[in-house]
Amino acid sequence: LPEIALAGRSNVGKSSLINRMVHRKNLARTSSKPGKTQTINFYRVNGRLYFADMPGYGFARVSKETKAAWARMIEGYLLNRRELKGVIQVVDVRHPPTRDDRMMYDWLRHYGIPVIVVATKADKIPRGKWPKHMKQVREGLQIRADDPLVLFSAETGQGKDELWNAIAALVTEG
Ligand code: GDP
Repeated sequence: LPEIALAGRSNVGKSSLINRMVHRKNLARTSSKPGKTQTINFYRVNGRLYFADMPGYGFARVSKETKAAWARMIEGYLLNRRELKGVIQVVDVRHPPTRDDRMMYDWLRHYGIPVIVVATKADKIPRGKWPKHMKQVREGLQIRADDPLVLFSAETGQGKDELWNAIAALVTEG
């Protein structure tokens, strides 16, 4: 089955996104403790594809060795997996993308891996501020014109259809 990987810093809302996309309350474990997941977790969706939830990046207080091990695992997966159709990179719509966010996006683009950027937690800012925050995300990551950017909320389900459409485009393209 085709696979779509999820990347994002710890605690950004990847598990919540997966749960919202697959109609499950607690399929993917959410946690308030950053940097907990250290393996890639696979979630089968309707027998059609897998979401590959990668451990969060950007947790500051881990050793160099831990970071290096993380990078090896992620790179090994992203560069060698034949089933991989693309990556959903999740960022927090409230804040400018971090240096780690930019590095991840640039890395994916460098290797020609298709990216869907999801700006999540939309429910946490007022509607009137969405355009300004989306611009901040677009410019902070320097998102290419042909890469989808989806405003999302795991809380309200906003952006769910748009994200499914973007995923479907990646899965059928390949
Ligand atoms: P992960 O570490 O990236 O998997 O992040 P989680 O999915 O565990 O989410 C981290 C925290 O953010 C949890 O307390 C979630 O309830 C909260 N959260 C995630 N997505 C949203 C969202 O769209 N809206 C709101 N209000 N909270 C969210």
